Amino acid sequence: TGINFDKYDDIVVEISGKNVPPAIMNFEEAEFCDSLCKNISKSGYLKPTPVQKYGIPIILAGKDLMACAQTGSGKTAAFLLPLLQHLMQDGVAASRFSEIQEPEIIIVAPTRELISQIYLEARKFAFGTCVRPVVVYGGISTGYTIREVLKGCNVLCGTPGRLLDIIGKGKVGLSKVKHLVLDEADRMLDMGFEQAMRKLVSFPNMPSKDLRQTLMFSATFPEDIQKLAADFLKSDYIFLTVGQVG
Ligand code: ADP
Ligand code: MG
Repeated sequence: TGINFDKYDDIVVEISGKNVPPAIMNFEEAEFCDSLCKNISKSGYLKPTPVQKYGIPIILAGKDLMACAQTGSGKTAAFLLPLLQHLMQDGVAASRFSEIQEPEIIIVAPTRELISQIYLEARKFAFGTCVRPVVVYGGISTGYTIREVLKGCNVLCGTPGRLLDIIGKGKVGLSKVKHLVLDEADRMLDMGFEQAMRKLVSFPNMPSKDLRQTLMFSATFPEDIQKLAADFLKSDYIFLTVGQVG
């Protein structure tokens, strides 16, 4: 689609952290399970973008990650593919109706448009697997949202307010969360979601940062984002910058 790979030929990549796994040169090297491979090729992705080449092996290795890359660089697949692979590899239980859902993955983004995009990509990549993604945001009726969540939910995508809302209603338990993604973290701060993010990670049954994998994505890396990264990520997190970042 909209990706111009030519401009990536001389891209600047900066990585810091210990035990950084080597980048992959193509999707085959990631050794994704069959359904994921099928869904990647169905989506027309022929080769990974730079943030995918470096990010996928880091996330597959289970490391925490703070990644900065410009818009349109393919960050969504960079985190969705390895996280779905983790679920498939761990033999996640098939989603099914239950009055309380315990997702393994939570993905947070600041706006309805952004989270809907992520949700659609998650559905595309999870197609044909037992993994069921669900999206929650303001503007869909709470009743409908709750019914969708209760049908089964392995990957819960949401805007900060709606996520807190549905967790507060007791429909979602956090004790099985193994992976947490905070996308567009800089915009979340700009939009005043810092307290909501802090509340999410400090729910009593949310596994502590040592017991979950946390990934943060941002276009910029100002001081307030560095502080969030220090608070939310394990101390040995990997820092990845791809391209010119503001
Ligand atoms: P970002 O989150 O970095 O802004 P996205 O993940 O939204 O970028 O990706 C931007 C566009 O590029 C989307 O339309 C996506 O489907 C497409 N895309 C992502 N990775 C690839 C790839 N490896 N090959 C081709 N297109 C891709
Ligand atoms: Mg994005």
